[in-house]
Amino acid sequence: MFEQHLRKLDDQHLLRRLRTIASATGPTVMLDNRRVILLSSNNYLGLATHPAVVEAAVAATRQYGAGSGASRLVCGSLPPHEELETALAQFKGTEASLTFAAGYLANISVIPTLIDKGGLILADRLCHASLIDGCRLSGATFRVYRHRDMNHLEQLLVRRSSARPTLIVTDGLFSMDGDIAPLTDIAFLAERYEAAVFVDDAHGTGILGRTGRGTLEHCDVESRIPYHMGTLSKALGSAGAYLAGSTAFIAYLMNTCRAFTYTTAPPPASAAAATAAIRVIEQEPERRARLWHNRERLAQGLTRLGFRLTASESPILPILVGNPDRAVILAQALLTHGVYAPAIRPPTVPPATSRIRLTITADHNAEHIDDALAALEKAGRALNMI
Ligand SMILES: *Cc1c(COP(=O)(O)O)cnc(C)c1O
Repeated sequence: MFEQHLRKLDDQHLLRRLRTIASATGPTVMLDNRRVILLSSNNYLGLATHPAVVEAAVAATRQYGAGSGASRLVCGSLPPHEELETALAQFKGTEASLTFAAGYLANISVIPTLIDKGGLILADRLCHASLIDGCRLSGATFRVYRHRDMNHLEQLLVRRSSARPTLIVTDGLFSMDGDIAPLTDIAFLAERYEAAVFVDDAHGTGILGRTGRGTLEHCDVESRIPYHMGTLSKALGSAGAYLAGSTAFIAYLMNTCRAFTYTTAPPPASAAAATAAIRVIEQEPERRARLWHNRERLAQGLTRLGFRLTASESPILPILVGNPDRAVILAQALLTHGVYAPAIRPPTVPPATSRIRLTITADHNAEHIDDALAALEKAGRALNMI
């Protein structure tokens, strides 16, 4: 049965395999004994290997050990977790925050504490899989609106019976398209129709907004959307996730979220690394500037070459290919020319929108980008895509 399933996936060009990189993640990595340019990591600011971040993880491990021992409610809460939550609340401008072992866990356990069977969830069609899973687990009626389509969202809000608890769910910065949710309009509709809003800012945190606080800062809705989640695993270069909001909201989550209660606290190292990453974001704004500078260089190069792109506004720059087999062939050709960016295929993205999702980081230099563009040109020409 397993073999049959795998064969079917393979026939559809949807089979996935792990590839080992024999080096730290960075602008380049070692793959099959070759150094290649990595254009697919979410380590946007290069903080996963920043000396201060790495050192904080090492120091916390020395002081508090490799593992946390149990759930924080069971064996006590370690200082690195508390320091991180204080730092996050300060960074986000909220009263409090609560951290989780992963963004996936946060989403599947927080959403069911916000809404249940009697309620209605309206989610952007391109929401992250963890949000969709959280919505399904809540037991609420689940409807999707067309991607970033506020008329559609309003229609669905108008149509429901007004007394029904309603939660609007969206990514802040969309993970597979690189565009940004219209949070100003969403906040307006939520206020008008008395709905709550849940924003997943996994990708916006650290890179969007004047001071890097994320998509809510970018859209100037921090005071209108009282809580949101984000991850520590992307721009912050560590692992885990957070919810930021009022003291009461955070205490509520601590008492209701099954993925907080029934899982071991993340290692002290990842909490300490994330705290150090927040400090770097505050102290080294030039990293963010470099990221956006690199993003422009790559985006302009891709446009000049004539690739079909999404409406990206961010360092996520997907090349739309269509069929999964074509996307796999393009990824292979890119690797031959020294660029590692795998094909992203259904069910991660909708059918017929398979793509190469390129991401750029602050640590890439002009030469990396120009070499990558040369590889893209060769591969794109050979496959008649440009
Ligand atoms: C990566 C991601 C998650 C999951 O976060 P992890 O910490 O990797 O589990 C959730 N939401 C979005 C939008 C993401 O891109």
